[in-house]
Amino acid sequence: MAAIPEIEITQRAARRIRAGHVWVYRSDIKKKHRANAGDVVHVVVRHRSGGTNRLGTAFFNPQSLITLRFISRELAEPDAGFWRARIQRAADLRSRWAGKDTALRLVFSEADEFPGLIVDRYDDVMVMQTLCAGTERLKDLFVELLKDLYAPRAIVERNDSGSRKMEGLEPSTGVLSGKLDGPVEIVEGGLRMLSDPLFGQKTGYYLDQRENRVRSEHYARGRCLDVFSYQGGFGLHLKKGGAEEVTLVDQSQRALEVAEAAARLNRLQVRTQAANAFDFLKGQQTQKERYDVVVLDPPAFAKNRGAVPQAVRGYKEINLRAMRILNPGGILITSSCSYHMLPDHFEEVLSDAARDAGRTVQVLERRSQSRDHPERLGFPESRYLKCYILRLL
Ligand code: SAH
Repeated sequence: MAAIPEIEITQRAARRIRAGHVWVYRSDIKKKHRANAGDVVHVVVRHRSGGTNRLGTAFFNPQSLITLRFISRELAEPDAGFWRARIQRAADLRSRWAGKDTALRLVFSEADEFPGLIVDRYDDVMVMQTLCAGTERLKDLFVELLKDLYAPRAIVERNDSGSRKMEGLEPSTGVLSGKLDGPVEIVEGGLRMLSDPLFGQKTGYYLDQRENRVRSEHYARGRCLDVFSYQGGFGLHLKKGGAEEVTLVDQSQRALEVAEAAARLNRLQVRTQAANAFDFLKGQQTQKERYDVVVLDPPAFAKNRGAVPQAVRGYKEINLRAMRILNPGGILITSSCSYHMLPDHFEEVLSDAARDAGRTVQVLERRSQSRDHPERLGFPESRYLKCYILRLL
């Protein structure tokens, strides 16, 4: 193996890394080095006294603002065996609670010490995202390891995520191994659901809300609205839990068609409405429609810190409208998946909405992403999903 290049970083960045973070920004890289995009490097810091400290091993990409992503606190020389052990360590955690569910996130990037790699498992199909230059270069190796460990029917890459652009990587989607031509049936909390790895959003499904969707059954009652429903995850669980009437609202016609197919698989009846959620909620309010449960699960309104003020307005509007159309005793299950919308701030927005709606609101549950999306201490970016279950008095 060729010698592993060394990268020197500033003392400021070294302090951050020692405190548990895993990224080093471009401005913290000392200029002289011989590394290329996608290289595994050893990271060092030099002290004024002249001594050096070795901080660990990282993926390097000078094209990205996030120039180093730590793989290990050790000076490692990662080979196939190293990566195999990393996959198995991630899988070991998931095997503890998967139960009868057949879909889960097997590898959650930095939080699994696997920066830039996502692997989602949908029954016997695996979907991979290589989101940094380091994992992109190792893609073939990961395909071989996954085949060897799990013998999946197909391995799909969904490398059309916008974050790849910031790494200087081209979009790329398709089947890397095996065969697949349509949605995959999975089991989630006793329901038959569909993931759509080739044509759906993200990796085909939103696994991060899995436990929250199953939990929503507990609150099912009367007339329910699942807004930003995608393929009907929350709505179908509400129907299974005993709701009388469930309406799914999404702007994606394809997502609603998949939702209808999933409803048929479970012999459940739901209504679907293709619409812009903002207009739809406004219309429901004007028409004085009333509901017992409303679910709000919008896409990330704040993709970066600069977008937070605009996002606040969006979250406030939909939550305010939802509160206005809920019956006394009604339940609001409301989420934000923007990391930049921090939990306290999101709670403040909910509070403002309640005040403007003139409603008294109880917080029944403060929830987060499912356990197959573990949070890494010292790396707050790994905790991004907030899901509140509220009761309106
Ligand atoms: N609740 C879903 C995931 C929702 S993801 C689940 O548990 O699986 C967010 C969804 O919002 C996507 O399906 C997207 O198509 C939809 N969406 C985004 N902007 C929208 C808008 N303005 N109006 C309606 N739907 C929208």
